[in-house]
Amino acid sequence: MALPDSFLQELKSRCSISDTVSSYVNLKRRGRNLVGLCPFHSEKTPSFNLYPENGSFYCFGCGVGGDVITFIMKIENLDYIEAVKFLAQRAGLEMPENTYDDGMAKLRTGILEANREAARFYYKQLYEPVGKQGLDYFHSRALSDNTIKRFGLGYSPKSRFALCDHLRKLGFTDNEIVSANLAFRSSDGRRIVDRFADRVMFPIIDLRGNVIAFGGRILTDQKPKYLNTSDTLAFKKSANLFSLNNAKNTGERTLILCEGYMDVIALNQAGFRNAIATLGTALTSEQALLIKRYADEVIICYDADEAGQKATSRAIEILRNAGLAIRIINIPDGKDPDEFIRNRGDKGAAAFKNILDNSGNDVEYRLYKLRSRYDISRPDAKAAYMADALKVIASLDSSVEQDIYVSKLAAEIGVEKTAILEDLRKMNRRKSGDAARKQFTQLSDGLTGRKDTINTEKATHTRAAKAEEMLIAFLVFNNDMAEVARQQLPPENFVTKFNAQLYEYVLRKIDEGVSPSDTVTRDFTADEAARYFAITNGYNSQVATKEAMFEYIHTIISEKEKLTPDKASDMSPEDIQEMLRRKKSRKNQ
Ligand SMILES: [Zn+2]
Repeated sequence: MALPDSFLQELKSRCSISDTVSSYVNLKRRGRNLVGLCPFHSEKTPSFNLYPENGSFYCFGCGVGGDVITFIMKIENLDYIEAVKFLAQRAGLEMPENTYDDGMAKLRTGILEANREAARFYYKQLYEPVGKQGLDYFHSRALSDNTIKRFGLGYSPKSRFALCDHLRKLGFTDNEIVSANLAFRSSDGRRIVDRFADRVMFPIIDLRGNVIAFGGRILTDQKPKYLNTSDTLAFKKSANLFSLNNAKNTGERTLILCEGYMDVIALNQAGFRNAIATLGTALTSEQALLIKRYADEVIICYDADEAGQKATSRAIEILRNAGLAIRIINIPDGKDPDEFIRNRGDKGAAAFKNILDNSGNDVEYRLYKLRSRYDISRPDAKAAYMADALKVIASLDSSVEQDIYVSKLAAEIGVEKTAILEDLRKMNRRKSGDAARKQFTQLSDGLTGRKDTINTEKATHTRAAKAEEMLIAFLVFNNDMAEVARQQLPPENFVTKFNAQLYEYVLRKIDEGVSPSDTVTRDFTADEAARYFAITNGYNSQVATKEAMFEYIHTIISEKEKLTPDKASDMSPEDIQEMLRRKKSRKNQ
């Protein structure tokens, strides 16, 4: 059952968009609106706009927009009903009854409950005879029982039915267990089989404390060594991080990014609770933006092997794009942090702290890597090294920082600093030109309707579509004119179908005495609702007059006429001449 209009209106009035968003984004006032750096894409100049007037937001950089519910859906990674529930809870508002019939939301809840029970089950196995080898493994890795409990680690028994039987006894359906990716159907489809068997288990917990997935490490030589939950209704691998739920509570604005679960847990045990890891895949930009919400700086602590170094280079790029400061750790003897700390016993924590304190930033790391590739005693190699090094330095945003590295470079290769600075200035100019061009094309593509996937007819009927959008926006600000508009121009006479649908909706909501801005995210897809807000926010309501409205209506009618040649042929030559004359005189006004 859909949520009632009255409930959404109450929710919107209690959860103001500026209060809600400002707990995630730093906002500055600009005229009647607020602006900030977009939390959904990487940027250095703010294109994220907030419109308190109609309770919406829109980002001109990535095109994401909507209302306060959309914002919570995106930033907390929730579906529509969950986002409403999240806001209602904050506002102390009771959810209306019967809103949980929604099949997807129900299944998602079932998955989370099954995961929680599975985590309990796996943990319990560790202390049963069947799980002894699991417990032995953790103890051999120097984890204390306290740490095991804190992370809820566990063991999945060899029997392929242990978990399924347990969950069924608790009343979970096969569909819930399979949808949680805790089991799969046997090839004959007749029964369900545990997905994890004979593995030590690492539950993955989200920021709200839900068990959303598992990683399982095999105890034999079988492959794959690590098995992770695939994406489910409750879990998206590329948008979550291991132990971020712990790390975000430390209050530190620096996170240590590790390669594996065991590294994170070992670091935690040694007192470094700000350690996190990706979930068996390379770092994504989604994860980098998630990190950005809780940290300003990331210390990359990947393995010293070739794969680890490649991953480091990739991670630097992604984290820097997200606007994070970066430091790199190189652990001596090519060890991973888990092994490094374990080998040093009581002194492990202090030794690791020492490495942390001496870690260099990524520019130093990249320059160091570059330097090892060139023999700068040869003049041609020196010139090539300087060119490459300058590219690295030019990627820095701070001119102060740039200057520091130019000095170092000048001393290192024995070239006048002023000469290097001149080259750098050229590079900087080119860089800012590129960025400005890119933003301009993105913006103009969106506005002219090129590549428009929401209103696909906009590109071919630009003039009509523009007038339609103006009319819709006008009515949102001038509800009292809705009836007049409907009489002059019923929705079926719109030129583009999407706008016709939106127009019909706006008229209906106004008729029902509801602001369409309060309900549009419930009744349209996220992208369509974003378009609605883009249309209304782009409109200057202060200059809107009744005359302006008639002008929009007239434009739409005349554009529609152009598309219906039959009508024209019914006209007498005099009529046509009269029509053309009218059109012309209007143009000259
Ligand atoms: Zn954006």
